[in-house]
Amino acid sequence: MHNIDLVVREIADEMRLRTDRGEVAHYIPELARVDPNAFGIAVIDADGNIAAAGDSDTPFSIQSVSKVFTLTLALGKAGDWLWQRVGREPSGSAFNSIVQLEYEKGIPRNPFINAGAIAVTDLILSGHQPREALGEILRFIRFLADDQSVTIDEAVAASEQRTGFRNVALANYMKSFGVLENPVDLTLGVYFHQCAIAMSCRQLAMAGRFLAHNGRNPSTDMSVVQPERARRINALMMTCGHYDGSGEFAYRVGLPGKSGVGGGILAIAPGKASIAVGSPGLDAAGNSHLGRVALEALTKRLGWSIFGV
Ligand code: GLU
Repeated sequence: MHNIDLVVREIADEMRLRTDRGEVAHYIPELARVDPNAFGIAVIDADGNIAAAGDSDTPFSIQSVSKVFTLTLALGKAGDWLWQRVGREPSGSAFNSIVQLEYEKGIPRNPFINAGAIAVTDLILSGHQPREALGEILRFIRFLADDQSVTIDEAVAASEQRTGFRNVALANYMKSFGVLENPVDLTLGVYFHQCAIAMSCRQLAMAGRFLAHNGRNPSTDMSVVQPERARRINALMMTCGHYDGSGEFAYRVGLPGKSGVGGGILAIAPGKASIAVGSPGLDAAGNSHLGRVALEALTKRLGWSIFGV
């Protein structure tokens, strides 16, 4: 861990000096208020050692990183039947794009674009009240992070509920094709709240550990999912986790990763570590700019890209 510690501290120092920080998301007004200079990183290896630096204990809005956890939960409920509702191909378009939905009869390309994640949340909601579904998502994330203090930032949820017109359009469009089972406003209520879950880099890296270790939490040796499922979720993160920036992320970082417009990225180095970075400035594809730069430096220095050194 010594070497990892050093690299993580070096990277945090370098990121502090960078002036290219990207643009904080403005379309959710509450997210526009965050400090654009924040940067945090946490790396947890197979033995549970944590290397962290910068603002690694400051919670931020996990936004679309939540989609990894809801996908895991929904696969646990529906198994492969889930793939009737949502595809597994990269979209090559923006996170909130509606174009492909028309061509593909309301079936979203993958579970990580907004439309796909809304369809996944709808599946979790079926047979429950929104409060129960949300409780289940939050409990699952707390269990994965081994931290009961993880909560929902209600101000962010309310902010998105007031302004999330695109997501309302996507959900209504899918509903018209029968892809959503529940009333659109209930599904979106759960979706906006899951996106508003606030976590620090340390908590997020903890929650991702099962994906780095074949579905098991190596500290407790508890199985979260079967190895095959962890592998497949990682594959989806690699191909679809950064929207239309997924190719670039694979090229530069070489790890499965999932970003959120709050500036967080969860990245998985299979067999080695779970990594979370947070920096709110985004690039043109809506992914954390310095988050990606930091992960690129990390995988390069540690030789962790799954494609070679
Ligand atoms: N809550 C955000 C939205 O639906 C999530 C998008 C993201 O994090 O990429 O617009």
